[in-house]
This record gives sequence, structure tokens and C-alpha cells, in this order.
Amino acid sequence: MLLDGHKIAQAIHAEIKDVLQKLATHARKPCLACVLTTKHPASASYVQRKIKACHEVGIESQVFHLQPHCTKELLDFIDKLNLDPMVDGILIQLPLPPHIHLLEVLEKIDPLKDVDGFHPLNAGKVLLQDPTAFNPCTPLGIKVLLERYEIDITGKHVVILGRSNIVGKPLAALLMQDAPGCNATVTVAHSKSTYLKELTRTADILVAAMGRPKAVEADWVKEGAVVVDVGINRVEALASKSGYKVIGDVDFENVKNKCMAITPVPGGIGPMTIAMLLKNTLKSYYLRNKLQLP
Ligand code: NAP
Repeated sequence: MLLDGHKIAQAIHAEIKDVLQKLATHARKPCLACVLTTKHPASASYVQRKIKACHEVGIESQVFHLQPHCTKELLDFIDKLNLDPMVDGILIQLPLPPHIHLLEVLEKIDPLKDVDGFHPLNAGKVLLQDPTAFNPCTPLGIKVLLERYEIDITGKHVVILGRSNIVGKPLAALLMQDAPGCNATVTVAHSKSTYLKELTRTADILVAAMGRPKAVEADWVKEGAVVVDVGINRVEALASKSGYKVIGDVDFENVKNKCMAITPVPGGIGPMTIAMLLKNTLKSYYLRNKLQLP
């Protein structure tokens, strides 16, 4: 079975659009502010997709192009966005230029506007299962995609390949929660883990988030497992107009015949991540306006 993230994301967009259409006509719309700090084409294209999705559902958006000479310049700008009552969500597109201090920047964002869920306060709230937490968008997108396909992970062994702060660690924290759609037994592996293949073969649900093109081969996967491919790897493709194509961390063609369900790349976790960004922006709008969450 193909876990079609694009289709599910479109359904979630429609649900958000519906909620926004029911807001009082005089009420202002939620607003997402995106900040770009590099001229990296991939970053620009990610931001473009996020803005397009906002537009589709009726969320206002703003894009700011900064080329900060120092961390303080970016921190001052974030302060302005923090204080702007019209801005509900603040997204600082990563990666930052190498001279900018990432943690200082993430800590500066008002936790109530932290729609990427990267602020340490939100990371802590996720661990403590606080319902006001902003979950990082990719882990939340994975959980919601599994739920929408009615894949019950209760008591199942989830193996996550990758321990980054934006995917692996928060996904582990989310899926092990004592909450609906969670309750998994989670193992997190990384580049220093040994006997990786033996480990992944024990996974009922295998999540690949390493940034290693086609690293997960068929013999890494248990028969009938669910495979979630988070990887986005740009590889050269001379036949393509752009000169590259995007592939995942999983050898899709060979793994698909062995597993019960699999996400494609593109069209799997990528669109779900954007859908969760919209959901988080809506959540921020409701929390900041002290409204009952829909
Ligand atoms: P990252 O920060 O580079 O982390 C990669 C993780 O994979 C690290 O924990 C690393 O281990 C581990 N790793 C690398 N090679 C490995 C190997 N051979 N065996 C086992 N573990 C290995 O990357 P990230 O930001 O988490 O992103 C991972 C991938 O997901 C990338 O392709 C990225 O583009 C993609 N991504 C997609 C979305 C989406 O919306 N679909 C969102 C975010 C990221 P160490 O910690 O030991 O170095």
C-alpha cells in the first residue's frame, strides 16, 4: 500500500480552509512570517511551497529576505516579529548561514509563535505531553499520516534511523507518548549504531531519516513492515530539466514489494510536513487569541 502523503495533506488543507471560512467575517486571518537568511535555492523553494499552501487555505503570509551579518541582527528582527500582534507563526528557514548561532536564534522565537516546534520550551512540552506544545512538523506529519491510514502503532516496535533535533529525537518523543496514535516501543539509531541491519529487521515500523540516498535496502526490512521515508536527497539527473531529482533514504523499488505500506519520495512526508506547519499556525492563532481549539 502506498501511503500517499500528498493526498492526505490535500485533505488536511481542505479541513483548515473550512475552519478558516467559518471564522467571523470581521476576524483577522492567521498569519505566518517566513524568514530566509540564505540564497540557497532549496531553501527558497521550500519557503515558496509553504507560502503557496498558506495561500490555498486562507492563511496570510509574509516573507522576509535577510542576509544577517551577525546573530544579533537576526535576533533583533525576530524580536520585531515576536512583538507584532498580526503575526501568529514565525518560521526561520534552516539551514542558517554558518556564522549564525542556531540555538540562540531558536530560543529567541516566542514559544507561542514557534510553529516549527524547535524552541527548547516546546521540545520540553512535547516530552511532558503538554497539549499546548508545538510538535515539530515532520514528526507530527508522520504520526498523522499513519493515523489517517489507520495504522495502529500501539505496542509496535518503531525503529528510527537518525537522531536529529528536527526529526529523529522529537519523533521518538512523540511516538512513545501515552496518547492516541502513539504508545509505540521506540528505538533510535544513528551513525555510531552497530548491527543496524539486524536492528531494522526487527522494526514493525521503520522510519528512515538519515539523508543517505537509497541506504535502506530490501534486506533491511521485515516482511510486512511499514516503511516511512523522510529522506530528501537531491541527486544528479541529466534527463531532468533542473539537472537533479529528489530521492529518499529507501530503495523504494525493491523495498515496496516486501513491506505492507511505504511512503514515496516525493509525495510522502514532504507534503505532510507542510500541512502540519499550517495546522501549527492555526493552533498558534487559537492559543494566542485564547480561543477553543477546533
Ligand atoms: P541530519 O541532521 O543530518 O541527521 C541525520 C541523522 O542520520 C543523524 O542522526 C546521523 O547520525 C544519522 N545517520 C547518518 N548516516 C547514518 C548511517 N549510515 N546509519 C545510521 N544513521 C545515520 O538530518 P535531518 O535534518 O534529520 O534530515 C534527515 C533527512 O530527512 C534528510 O534527507 C533531510 O533532507 C530529510 N528531511 C525531510 C523532511 C521532510 O519534510 N520530508 C524534513 C526534515 C528533513 P549522527 O547523529 O551520528 O551523525
